[in-house]
Amino acid sequence: MQCNVMEGKIIIISAPSGCGKSTIINAILAQGDIDMQFSVSATNRLPREGEKHGVNYFFLTDEEFKTAIKQDAFVEHEEVYPGRFYGTLKSEVERICSAGHNVVLDIDVKGGVNVKRMYGNRAISIFIMPPSVEELRRRLVSRATDAPEVIEERVGKAEYEIGFAPQYDCRIVNDDLAIAIADTRKAILDFINA
Ligand code: 5GP
Repeated sequence: MQCNVMEGKIIIISAPSGCGKSTIINAILAQGDIDMQFSVSATNRLPREGEKHGVNYFFLTDEEFKTAIKQDAFVEHEEVYPGRFYGTLKSEVERICSAGHNVVLDIDVKGGVNVKRMYGNRAISIFIMPPSVEELRRRLVSRATDAPEVIEERVGKAEYEIGFAPQYDCRIVNDDLAIAIADTRKAILDFINA
């Protein structure tokens, strides 16, 4: 599946959970000076506090997610955690591309590598790294949105995900948030303006 409009480029951003990826993406979107829009994914997980349907995700039931797969509604979809599915909707990518905008995808490492392979030079893949796995555990604990066993699951997953970083076009370490935002912005601008 391709974008209809040649100008629309794909910006893939992946990171282990708790590395500040959403904060970085939202900060860049809020600055409002880069022509890019967030592609809202579908998931069968439940909303976290403050998350809204159609804004953070399209929250689907297991049945609805299965039906969407059957209807070929996804560019890609992955079981990121056991039983928890996430997918990039063709309708979202098409809506943004056909209006001539660049698209931002916040997706996991397998989805990121797959989408980069699909779109080649029309996509940039950016991996946000934690300064260390220990620092990541500390951040997840202080975020206090997940139970201790979920945090351990995420830390284990992070170690696995960091193994995919060499396959990304660009790696940014989020040690200082302001610097990470600036570096990510620069990578996106250089790519869009190339
Ligand atoms: P969370 O549940 O913390 O919002 O997201 C968990 C993971 O799912 C994150 O790594 C996020 O990037 C990934 N994710 C979100 N949407 C998609 C998607 O559409 N496709 C894939 N492959 N991963 C996604």
